[in-house]
Amino acid sequence: MFRTHDCNSLRKTDIGKEVTLAGWVNVTRDHGGVIFIDLRDREGLTQVVFRPEENAELAKQAHSLHGEDVIQVSGTVAARLPGTENPNLATGDIEVIPKQLRMLNRAEPLPFPLDSEPQNEDLRMTHRYLDLRRPRLARNLRIRHRAAKATRDYLDSQGFVEVETPILSKSTPEGARDFLVPSRIAPGKFYALPQAPQQYKQLLMVAGVEKYFQIAKCFRDEDLRADRQPEFTQIDIEASFVTPNDIFALVEGMLAAIFKATRDTEIKTPFDRLTYREALDRYGSDKPDRRFEMELVDLGEAFRESSFKVFRGALDAGSVVKAINAKGFAGITIGQADELTEIAKLYGAKGLAFIKVENGEWKSPIVKFFSDAEKAALRSKLKIEEGDCLFFAADKWEVACEVLGRLRLRIAEMQNVHGKAKSGVEGGAPDWNFLWVTNFPLFEWSAENNKWNAMHHPFTRPKAEDMSLFEAKKFREVRAEAYDVVLNGVEIGGGSMRIYEPELQERMFEALGIGPEARESEFGHLLRAFRLGTPPHGGIAFGLDRLVMLICGEQSIRDVMAFPKNNRAMDLMSQSPAEVDPKQLRDLGIQLSKEKKV
Ligand code: ASP
Repeated sequence: MFRTHDCNSLRKTDIGKEVTLAGWVNVTRDHGGVIFIDLRDREGLTQVVFRPEENAELAKQAHSLHGEDVIQVSGTVAARLPGTENPNLATGDIEVIPKQLRMLNRAEPLPFPLDSEPQNEDLRMTHRYLDLRRPRLARNLRIRHRAAKATRDYLDSQGFVEVETPILSKSTPEGARDFLVPSRIAPGKFYALPQAPQQYKQLLMVAGVEKYFQIAKCFRDEDLRADRQPEFTQIDIEASFVTPNDIFALVEGMLAAIFKATRDTEIKTPFDRLTYREALDRYGSDKPDRRFEMELVDLGEAFRESSFKVFRGALDAGSVVKAINAKGFAGITIGQADELTEIAKLYGAKGLAFIKVENGEWKSPIVKFFSDAEKAALRSKLKIEEGDCLFFAADKWEVACEVLGRLRLRIAEMQNVHGKAKSGVEGGAPDWNFLWVTNFPLFEWSAENNKWNAMHHPFTRPKAEDMSLFEAKKFREVRAEAYDVVLNGVEIGGGSMRIYEPELQERMFEALGIGPEARESEFGHLLRAFRLGTPPHGGIAFGLDRLVMLICGEQSIRDVMAFPKNNRAMDLMSQSPAEVDPKQLRDLGIQLSKEKKV
């Protein structure tokens, strides 16, 4: 047997047993000739002690061990000397007195130590296999596995079938840039890597699969932001003959199973629901973080007749006056106020008015313009108390909501009101605040392209109640049968009921400015399928990486992926992307343009 136990299993009850362990040398310590080694495997650590008086030859061998050497040790389990037990270690009561030491493989000096958090991420990524030996990342990979397994088990129990869909596929309009793969067999033609299996899963509904899911790799060639990767994983779901409520119940059950399996936590279901409009109106975001209140309050009524020109002027022009009350934030520093003003301006406000409530006084240059009645209205609507700080926005509804929504999040960070919830798996007990956001707009206006885009994707159906608005081409007002799941202010999933009628799909394409020719070349297969007996269907997809990141209490999805790319979309370990042999390019009929060559 290579080993009798793993490095996290020996306890007091094993004292006297002959055991064999194998693993990595985590740390060696030389205490006056006695060599202590922490032997590590993925399960944990066990102390091995080489005493020259017990076995001089072995102690000499042990002397030459280095961090991360791979060894096998056979010996006897012994109690640690009284007073030297380590209560922080599961195996802290015992040690192994070796009889045999076998070097399985030496490690050269390490590029970075594994016992502290390395600062240089490029170095970590270059030697990712070393980085992954660190317990935190090793734990993350296992949590990810448990999340994926719980997903599969749960969906299987609900009758869902996992079906793989092609990676070499066709360009789809999910909104991002495609990764293209040149075809050698058909020179000049390209596959696209899927941004999501959206069309395939709908075609599986036409195929009568009825309940599909897939833990699917997706690819989007986007400029990377902190929380994005060019390839990522979705839990992708589609079902036939369902209503949104069926999808909601399924997803709540699935997330409950995932949280039970990964964190042994019972999450509260069903989740609250807010419409898109309400979410913006009350929290200034379509993915509100509701672990804290600080809701946006409408002050239109209070200032309708005001003599304060800024508010009155906004209201007369059809805009809104809204405010938030940051409880206990009257001690705001000048630096914080400046930063918040910058944020307000960045999102379209002209400036930022705020009132500090200190020593019974309202401190702000705008207070002198308020009547007593206005002050009373403010006091009751915003529930003002000593120590509060109020922030105002007088602008178009969209701008006021967005500005106050951004301020709300930043202020919460400044006050660290949800610091606890951000802590890792080991620390704290985060609140898991789930929410459905429903009734998204079907379209969004692209000023850049001077046309309507689909807010979710072109296959999302308009709400039945809004069909007449759709017919009347009042696109701004049409709501979609689309929904997102939000967890602690992060969108973790989104989906919709789909268009299944070929005529309606054609009209949707038309509304998006996709002409008959493009419709045929890009979506002909889908439209033909829809004409051959298509059940009503709908679905959803989750970002598995982001979900696991939140479960693990991590700040970056890179920390829950085995081999992520860096923020220049490069894999530093394998040095990809890389140049290829000119012959490979010739086979593909590809010639690099001069300016692209570096
Ligand atoms: N395919 C969609 C996406 O990736 C999700 C869905 O509608 O199911 O956003």
